[in-house]
Amino acid sequence: MIEKNNKPKFLIVGAGLAGICVAKRLHENGIDFKIIDNGLNESSRVAAGVINPLVFRRTTKSWRVDELLPIAVDFYQNLEELWGNKYYEPIQIRRAFSHLQERETWIERQNWEDYSPYMKTIDDLDTNFDGLKNTFGTGVVLQTAYIHTDAFLTDARNWFKNNQFLIDATFDFKEMDAQTGTFQGEKYDSIIFCEGYRGIENPFFNYLPLEATKGEILTVESTQIADNELLNRKCFILPIGNKQFKVGATYTWRSPNTELTEEAKTLLFEQANSLVDAEMKIVQHQAGVRPTVLDRRPLIGTHPKYSKLKIFNGLGAKGYMMAPLLSEEFVSNLVTESPLDKEIDIERYRKRYIQE
Ligand SMILES: Cc1cc2nc3c(=O)[nH]c(=O)nc-3n(C[C@H](O)[C@H](O)[C@H](O)COP(=O)(O)OP(=O)(O)OC[C@H]3O[C@@H](n4cnc5c(N)ncnc54)[C@H](O)[C@@H]3O)c2cc1C
Repeated sequence: MIEKNNKPKFLIVGAGLAGICVAKRLHENGIDFKIIDNGLNESSRVAAGVINPLVFRRTTKSWRVDELLPIAVDFYQNLEELWGNKYYEPIQIRRAFSHLQERETWIERQNWEDYSPYMKTIDDLDTNFDGLKNTFGTGVVLQTAYIHTDAFLTDARNWFKNNQFLIDATFDFKEMDAQTGTFQGEKYDSIIFCEGYRGIENPFFNYLPLEATKGEILTVESTQIADNELLNRKCFILPIGNKQFKVGATYTWRSPNTELTEEAKTLLFEQANSLVDAEMKIVQHQAGVRPTVLDRRPLIGTHPKYSKLKIFNGLGAKGYMMAPLLSEEFVSNLVTESPLDKEIDIERYRKRYIQE
């Protein structure tokens, strides 16, 4: 157990991916903190945890990928050493093109200097790849992986709990004084909200355009799908071992619930069947809710009126790649007041606050 002499300076609300990354960064800086989490909905646990440097819709590079990716790899690999488990699992991603235009865009970009580290040059094998229903050819993405999300969340929770950083409880706003940063009689330098989609109910930050975007995901069993790469078109089919695959995920805007729907199950099954010619048996069906933002950038920073209240949220659909670096930048902003990237800073929504 870690020796603690100081009173916790920061209170983190939520121990999903966001809260865990912020806590880890505070710990690295030798700063004491407490986390309060009720484990109600964990988008982070349901997530497939895929790390993909490309955005397939437009065949573009993901936002800030050159900076985000190396820090993410380092972060999960360091935790593997600390917690003695495997989280970061490299896996090749094979994109089956949806139409000719997509294939042409890929061929054009694969040799661009800033794209070539992430795109393998298409060869005959890719064009004629027969492991799936393939009309327009395929392209292989480089530097891809997935995180063993369940193991990561479980180990993080246990480590923070065993070292007395984490308490299992619900944060109740009635017990907080926003002006002084006091919660249950304890005064903090800051209270940091990492509530995931439940942030839409946060009475202090509800002026921000946070959305609840539900995602449903299946686990299927099949002996007929290759288990050495992730396949993608309309949905992804991710091999997770023992002839099991995750098939996902749906996107339902403004849907703050984790009910499982037949509609999503049928859709995902059909999408998987349109990608591979294989017998599949559904063994699990899960749902989670992503905290998303219309401008697709996270919501990070300080409340415009109550300077003791901070937020680290809106990680969206690519949280596993973004959170390691953004948490580092956020904690550096907390400790040294170094400015936040304008694209993530909630300052960009200050006008919405004043209007209310
Ligand atoms: C189906 C699906 C597939 C996904 N696939 C991927 C993927 O392949 N790659 C990727 O990078 N991302 C993926 N994501 C997105 C990723 O899961 C999110 O970006 C990320 O997990 C969000 O983390 P979070 O900590 O903000 O939210 P959460 O994981 O929801 O954590 C919030 C935590 O705060 C707690 N909490 C909230 N309010 C309170 C309160 N008042 N008191 C105490 N505790 C509270 C909750 O119980 C919860 O534990 C996927 C998401 C879904 C749903």
